[in-house]
Amino acid sequence: MFSAGGQHIGYASEARTGVEPDEIGAVMCVINLGARDELGDVRQCKCKRYFLARRTDQLYCSTKCRVRYHQSSDEFKAKRREYLREWYRLKKSGKVK
Ligand SMILES: [Zn+2]
Repeated sequence: MFSAGGQHIGYASEARTGVEPDEIGAVMCVINLGARDELGDVRQCKCKRYFLARRTDQLYCSTKCRVRYHQSSDEFKAKRREYLREWYRLKKSGKVK
């Protein structure tokens, strides 16, 4: 007897590995929304959630995310400025090569 059937099943389950079912669901959802051409742009927020942008400048799914990510990016820039200033000071003093 051939074992082609068993090999086929093995191949099918192998092809699935590495793909998250949630991810497939999200992508399918976006495809469906796109096909129906409803409301506006489907975008992905920084929190990984998909949302419909009703304004062209809408980058986040909610006000909560907008505040959170906008603040954190400002914080990040401030920290980086601080870090670079410190690094430059150390470099000038000869402690860093
Ligand atoms: Zn979000």
